[in-house]
Amino acid sequence: MNPFPIILSSPSGGGKTTIARELLLRRTDLGYSVSCTTRAPRVGEVEGKDYYFLSRGDFERRRAAGDFAESAEVHGNMYGTLRSEIGRVLGAGKHVVMDIDVQGAQQFTRAFPKSVTIFVLPPSADVLLERLRQRRTESKEQLALRLHAALQELQAVDLYQYVVVNDDLAKAVHRVSAIIDAEVVSRERVAGLRQQVSALVERLEVEIHS
Ligand code: 5GP
Repeated sequence: MNPFPIILSSPSGGGKTTIARELLLRRTDLGYSVSCTTRAPRVGEVEGKDYYFLSRGDFERRRAAGDFAESAEVHGNMYGTLRSEIGRVLGAGKHVVMDIDVQGAQQFTRAFPKSVTIFVLPPSADVLLERLRQRRTESKEQLALRLHAALQELQAVDLYQYVVVNDDLAKAVHRVSAIIDAEVVSRERVAGLRQQVSALVERLEVEIHS
């Protein structure tokens, strides 16, 4: 199998983080790329599991050292994908699931063009607003920032290969899982296809000529 990166993006409150978590529980062929961020941990978030929480200074140093496959400023904080995380998961023979914003997705797919890109859409504006408000982890200013960012992120939907509407969590997880299954058998990704077909052709030719 040729493992590949799977990028999930959506406006904040779109539900991609929950989808990613569910996928990782259900499939053993997936691993998660733990991102770095300069934002403060939320209640319940664990260092090295949800994020690597870095100071601005440390983040900038790692960026200058070329440690990130992509990085972007989102809602006033820095976020970045470590090359080492991608290598760790792909090296273990697993597809690497990434929960990153649209700017990061664009940078990352330039470096890893074989990535699968999936945009998660909320089922309605009301649901999106409700999910954003329910977080209660943000100040009013941060909520406003996220609303503006959500507007911009929605415009980026055309850059993605797949779109999944998150109207029902189980259904959305099932759809993303089906996309991964289809990608595994997409012609360009099948390992040793030429050899397999050549072996079949050779055998048939022997049969025809005998
Ligand atoms: P949150 O602060 O709610 O965890 O994430 C805010 C936004 O940052 C989300 O849209 C999330 O997808 C994005 N994000 C998380 N990690 C990364 C990353 O490594 N790179 C980029 N570009 N965005 C990220």
